[in-house]
Amino acid sequence: MQELFTDKLGDCRCCPRGCGVDRLAGETGFCGIDSRALVSHAGLHFGEEPPISGTRGSGTIFFAGCNLRCVFCQNYRISQEFGKGSSAVMDSRGLASEMLRLEREGAHNINFVSPSHMIFQMADAIRMARGMGLGIPVVYNSNGYDSVEALRAIDGLVDIWLPDLKYMDNGLAMRLSAAGDYADIVPGVLGEMLARSGRLEVDGDGVAVRGLLVRHLVLPGEMENSRRCLDLLASLDPGIHVSIMSQYSPQYRACQHPGINRPLTPEEYDEITEYALDLGLENAFIQELESSDHYLPDFDSDTPFGE
Ligand code: SF4
Repeated sequence: MQELFTDKLGDCRCCPRGCGVDRLAGETGFCGIDSRALVSHAGLHFGEEPPISGTRGSGTIFFAGCNLRCVFCQNYRISQEFGKGSSAVMDSRGLASEMLRLEREGAHNINFVSPSHMIFQMADAIRMARGMGLGIPVVYNSNGYDSVEALRAIDGLVDIWLPDLKYMDNGLAMRLSAAGDYADIVPGVLGEMLARSGRLEVDGDGVAVRGLLVRHLVLPGEMENSRRCLDLLASLDPGIHVSIMSQYSPQYRACQHPGINRPLTPEEYDEITEYALDLGLENAFIQELESSDHYLPDFDSDTPFGE
């Protein structure tokens, strides 16, 4: 019998926080979640990049809680205020059932959102779902603040890596996300994902089947941070696929932070996309600024897990 990944939660080092708490005994660390997977929403999502959403949608499973505390979090109701919502506790079998339901509904892939602190619950569920016949790719859609050791431990279970690259400035990462070592951690994470799966590969319909797609959200007034992030990507691989995102809006506590208490301007976004092209990043997804209203699930819905 295979060892359960979740057995590793007795001394939690799932993410770079390395809290060392016993989540199996009900203890919680920075992310606030014990060993039980807490799911806030599961459904088809059409607002991801075209290779991820395709025509039939991406089968998203949103985990509650987070190992970052971004003051501008668009999902703050599930990442920070999950105790107030309608999240569901799921064991591996329950998660696997949701994955199979999404596949039956036509999803191109299963897309785990915010998995860094649930990586081992996710891994056990993937293994179970594969055993039950799941045949579509699995997407790991994280904030980039991951443990390389944990990524290695789940080798072979994820097909598509979809991490954020938020900062290459530890001071900014501390101020905005309470992660003062983010810029030290994320290069190794991206390098590991690239080494594991390579560049993004798509099928004949342009839908992703494996590989790496990095997301960078451009923050207002933080052009130097964005330039450093793009420099890192170009140094890893000029052919890396990157989605340069324009949809920043001052959500959650952003209004209390001068500088990011406003939307991004078209000039700022253009400056960064031109910089990416100058660096030779030829596989960049660039948005129209008007398209900044990306679909977000209704986390207050009465039916967060479909009809
Ligand atoms: S997953 Fe949570 S408890 Fe574990 S190290 Fe990260 S923040 Fe701490």
